[in-house]
Amino acid sequence: MAVKDVIRMGHPTLRKVAQKLSKQEIGRPETASLVQDLFDTMMDQGGIGIAAPQINVSKSVAIIQIDPSSGRYAPEENVPMMVFINPEIKVLDKKRTGFWEGCLSVPGLRGFVERPQHILVKFLDDKAQACELEVQGFTATVIQHELDHLFGRLYVDRIEDRKKLMFEEEYLQFHAEDPAPAID
Ligand code: ZN
Repeated sequence: MAVKDVIRMGHPTLRKVAQKLSKQEIGRPETASLVQDLFDTMMDQGGIGIAAPQINVSKSVAIIQIDPSSGRYAPEENVPMMVFINPEIKVLDKKRTGFWEGCLSVPGLRGFVERPQHILVKFLDDKAQACELEVQGFTATVIQHELDHLFGRLYVDRIEDRKKLMFEEEYLQFHAEDPAPAID
């Protein structure tokens, strides 16, 4: 249980499809300590989500936690700590909305990404129970960002207007009136 180093864009692990876990494997202490490491690292970095490949573990595990008391997110965006194992996303409504995203693995940059805002996530929780979660809005964007990491994708792959990729300082200086960033 510890804060781990976050690997950055260019590291090959970020481009691999992460390995799914068997139910047996989920029950092992190594999985519990992986989840704890993810949580500790996310807290240390001030993120709202993190995926195992970001700490160089190519397994299909991601967590999110959105705490509005940080003041950075709207009160309705209150998501308790959730663990997603072997998740799959089904888009329920293709209509997309864009947010300025950031990523712990792409430090110092922001990019505008449009994603579907109504999804169904099928996954196993940390007790290996099959779960389904229907999500809308900003939380749907955060989950898609995190789950992309499990399939070797980064948010920069999804930026359609390349002019909307920029440094964080310039984003804050010139574009901060735009919708809240999704940071992980
Ligand atoms: Zn990320």
